[in-house]
Amino acid sequence: MAATDPQERLATYRAKRDFSVTAEPSGAGAAPSGSDRFVVQRHRARRLHYDLRLEIAGVLVSWAVPKGPTLDPKARQLAVHVEDHPVEYFDFEGVIPKGEYGGGDVVVWDWGTWSPAKEEDPLRSIEKGDLHFDLRGEKLAGRFVLVRRDSGTDTSGKEQWLLLHKNDDAAVPGWDPEDHPRSVKSGLTNDQVASAPSAQWRSDLPAAEASQALGGAPPPVWEGPTDEELQALDKLGKGGLWTMQGRELKLTNLDKVLFPGQPPVTKREVVRYYAVIARWMLPYLYDRPLNLNRFPDGVAKPGFWHKEVPSHAPDWLQQWHNPEADPGETRCYAVVDSVPAVAWMANFGGLELHAWTSRLPDVHQPTWALIDIDPGTTTGFDDILVLARLYRTALEHLGVVGMPKVTGKRGVHDLDSDR
Ligand code: MN
Repeated sequence: MAATDPQERLATYRAKRDFSVTAEPSGAGAAPSGSDRFVVQRHRARRLHYDLRLEIAGVLVSWAVPKGPTLDPKARQLAVHVEDHPVEYFDFEGVIPKGEYGGGDVVVWDWGTWSPAKEEDPLRSIEKGDLHFDLRGEKLAGRFVLVRRDSGTDTSGKEQWLLLHKNDDAAVPGWDPEDHPRSVKSGLTNDQVASAPSAQWRSDLPAAEASQALGGAPPPVWEGPTDEELQALDKLGKGGLWTMQGRELKLTNLDKVLFPGQPPVTKREVVRYYAVIARWMLPYLYDRPLNLNRFPDGVAKPGFWHKEVPSHAPDWLQQWHNPEADPGETRCYAVVDSVPAVAWMANFGGLELHAWTSRLPDVHQPTWALIDIDPGTTTGFDDILVLARLYRTALEHLGVVGMPKVTGKRGVHDLDSDR
């Protein structure tokens, strides 16, 4: 007789995972909601497979299908009966840390509701090795059959089953799950989730806490200045008050040349440019204290580092007071979080905005690391590319996503992000 108690059924799930880091019982507090859900997760672990999970008796009864479920009535797919998963895993999408059981990336490939085709208790059907059921998902629909193979277990001791689709109205000959790779939860592919996961599954924690958000909420979206606001900037004389997005900016020396050349670029044009591109810069700046490299007299003269927010800064400019600043150290940093703030920085001569690698409030916890690859006097950009690729390969060995960030001059920053 199959166990119907979720705790009992999750024994194998727990046995594969180390819960010793916490005193709490694993799987506790699981509150199943909706009792007839199914999910298919596309899971790139050591090998790509699709995990088909049916919610039964408070757990997700699961099969790993290497080639994926299909609507093709001719296909007979291997389905390895794997351990039940806790219902908290139902809509999990993100990464499982490398080195842990199932380490890799997961998207919610399909979800919906299911129902057994026969009257009898589905756990009993599964025990007998023959389950007929209907799926109502976003990709999968119609009558499926799971049947245990006589050959029994694979080398790891797991039962081998076959998954097939009946030739009913929902059947589609030749249908290939790999032609439909995106998540039904987010629209993302596995590659996209792997490069910027929003969550990780910590199977060493109790199920209720195992899904952990990564990188916080998605960044806000900013809008650029309106045409009317830009026209008002053009009409200002040498300086004056510019109102943009409800903020007042006191602009000065707008006709001063900051970039000499043909044609020369004035401070007005630089302020305008920063205001227009601010919406693309802000995702990298917001919530981060700033160090400025200032060029108030133009880029032909050497710049200088500036960190302390000046007393004449507008009161709407977000500031962060460093509580750990020693006497003589910078106490108050600007935190640029709006389009007017970016434009104000340009007026201040803050042409290079160097955001901290950490974000508020946890300034001791960097969210990325930078490897600064600068060419020497006898090396060129080709040498930089060789080095950048070597770094990328080395980072891959560490399970870290590396991305190139060109500095606009000669070098490459190898940006190593945890999200
Ligand atoms: Mn899996």
